[in-house]
Amino acid sequence: MEIIKNIADLRSFIEKAKAEGLTIGFVPTMGYLHEGHMSLIRRAKSQTDVVIASIFVNPSQFNDPKDFQKYPRNEAKDILMLEEVKCSAVFIPTVEEMNQVAYPEKLDLGQLDKIMEGLNRPGHFDGVAEIVYKLLTVVSPDKALFGEKDFQQLKVVEHLVNHFKLNVEIVGCPIIREKSGLAMSSRNARLSKAQRILAQELIWALKAYNYGKITLEEGIGILEAKEIEVEYFEEHDEDLVLGNSGVQRVFIAAKIGNIRLIDNMVLD
Ligand code: AMP
Repeated sequence: MEIIKNIADLRSFIEKAKAEGLTIGFVPTMGYLHEGHMSLIRRAKSQTDVVIASIFVNPSQFNDPKDFQKYPRNEAKDILMLEEVKCSAVFIPTVEEMNQVAYPEKLDLGQLDKIMEGLNRPGHFDGVAEIVYKLLTVVSPDKALFGEKDFQQLKVVEHLVNHFKLNVEIVGCPIIREKSGLAMSSRNARLSKAQRILAQELIWALKAYNYGKITLEEGIGILEAKEIEVEYFEEHDEDLVLGNSGVQRVFIAAKIGNIRLIDNMVLD
């Protein structure tokens, strides 16, 4: 696997692959990889010839600087995991490297910035949109894969691609969960044993709502009684902007201690 640290080397790697007529799949990540990320790489490998992952903990998408500092990092282990899954290349740029790439204009996120993650993390999606634009323009992949774990982010990326008319197919991928049902997340590494058990209440709430056993208000009450700080527990149409897809999802964001977790589920 190629380990690429700067844009010039990335460009020559990509030019060579494209000259050979190979298609490129791209999986952007913030590292501290787990099986959720691996599922995206495997899917990319099944759909494209050359798969590039990126590891970049993007400071501009953290509305809380402490959250940025505490974000788990382990580049050496990430590289081993990517080698094991036979990823073709990993791009690990510095902040300075990414600052060199132009971003044409701040994207108007409309409704996407007014609900759930947009509302609760001001500026977060501006940071996401900017870095995803920059990564998509330097990698210029045929397909870029994103997890439904960050469902609203997936919608922001689709909006970004439509707005800037980027020539890339965005592929949404299902949420990978631990045996307990807890959605895999790099942030789970920061949970204590007791907090990890408490975190399972999030998937319980999503399922209980799906089965019609609780209302959203009841769910919030039950979780808060267990000292889980719920930021939102809401149902939305999968088309978060137009609300006309006909498929409903339930979304949750909550803090356990100072660790913020999100999850969502399609309603049957
Ligand atoms: P992150 O490193 O958390 O920024 O995630 C990088 C990509 O992996 C994003 O597209 C996430 O939605 C996706 N991802 C993270 N966790 C999971 C998971 N448990 N299942 C599926 N995709 C995931």
